[in-house]
Amino acid sequence: MDIETFLNNEKPQQDYRCGFVAIVGRPNVGKSTLMNHLIGQKISITSKKAQTTRNRVTGIYTDNTAQFVFVDTPGFQTTHRNALNDRLNQNVTEALSGVDVAVFVIEAMRFTDADRIVMKQLPKHTPVILVVNKIDKAKNKYDLEAFVEQVSSEFAFAGHEVVSAKHGLRIANLLELLKPYLPESVPMYPEDMVTDKSSRFLAMEIVREKLFRYLGEELPYAMNVEVEQFEETENGLLRIYIAVLVDKDSQKAILIGKGGERLKKISTEARLDMEKLFDSKVFLKVWVKVKSGWADDIRFLRELGL
Ligand code: GDP
Ligand code: MG
Repeated sequence: MDIETFLNNEKPQQDYRCGFVAIVGRPNVGKSTLMNHLIGQKISITSKKAQTTRNRVTGIYTDNTAQFVFVDTPGFQTTHRNALNDRLNQNVTEALSGVDVAVFVIEAMRFTDADRIVMKQLPKHTPVILVVNKIDKAKNKYDLEAFVEQVSSEFAFAGHEVVSAKHGLRIANLLELLKPYLPESVPMYPEDMVTDKSSRFLAMEIVREKLFRYLGEELPYAMNVEVEQFEETENGLLRIYIAVLVDKDSQKAILIGKGGERLKKISTEARLDMEKLFDSKVFLKVWVKVKSGWADDIRFLRELGL
C-alpha cells in the first residue's frame, strides 16, 4: 500500500462525529415514538396515556458518518406533585446537562401551557432544535409554517424541523440537521448497538407498556415494575420473573382481572414481544405485589434507580 492510499483510508475516522442528543418535551408529544424511529428499533415504550417513560432510555443510531446517542426524558409532570414527580423532573434537568444538542418536541398546531413550562427550562448554553411532530395532523402547509414561525419567535432555537414520528416522515432530515452539532469523535459504542440498557431493563419496559395498554384509565397512579430474576437456562431458554408493585389490594385485583384474564393477556403479549426482541424462547412469570405508600418513599425510588 502506498502512503497516499494509507492516508486516505485513515481519513474517514477523522471527520466522524459522535455525541449526545437529549429529547425533551411535555408528555404525549411523541418523544418515545420519535426516538424509536430515529434508531429504527422499538426500545422506548409509547402510549396514548401520558407519563409512560419513567427511566432515561438511551438509543443509539450509527451510520458511516456519525453516531447519535439519544436520551429520552421522562417528560415534565405539571399537575401532580409528589416525590416521584419531583424525581421525574429532576431526571429531565439531568438529561439536559452534558448533551451536545437538545431536541424540543411539540405537537403540530398545538402549543400549550405545559409546552411553555418545558420551554422555559431549556438550556441556554446548549443548542436546541425545535421539532414539530405529528405534522400528519396539520391541515395544510401554510398553517404549519405559520405555526412554526410563531413558536420559533418565543425562544432562540438553533434550527427547526417538522416530522411525523409515527409515520416516519422527515426523520432522515432531522438526523442531518442534528449532525453538525455532534463533536468530531470516534464512535463511543459498537456500531450494532442500539441501546446501552440491559436486557433486564428492556424486559421491564415491555411489561410496563402492556400494563399501560391493558389498564388504560384504570392504571394505578402509583405502580412500578421490577425484574426479580432474569436468567438463561442451559438449553437457551430465558427465564424471566417480573413483579408489579401497587399501593392497594383493590389495585391488585383490577390488574389481575376477572379470573386472572387481564394479567394473563399482559404476560402473553409481553412474552411474545420479548421473544422477538431477544430472539429466544422466553418463560415469563408476571405477578402483582402490594407495597403501600411507595410513591412518596424516596429511598425506595432510589432503589428502583429513579
Ligand atoms: P411521549 O409521551 O412524548 O413519549 O409520547 P409517545 O411517543 O408515547 O406518543 C404519544 C402518542 O402520540 C402515541 O399515541 C403516539 O402513537 C402518538 N404519536 C406519536 N407521533 C405521532 C405522529 O407523528 N402523528 C400522530 N398522529 N400521532 C403520533
Ligand atoms: Mg415517552
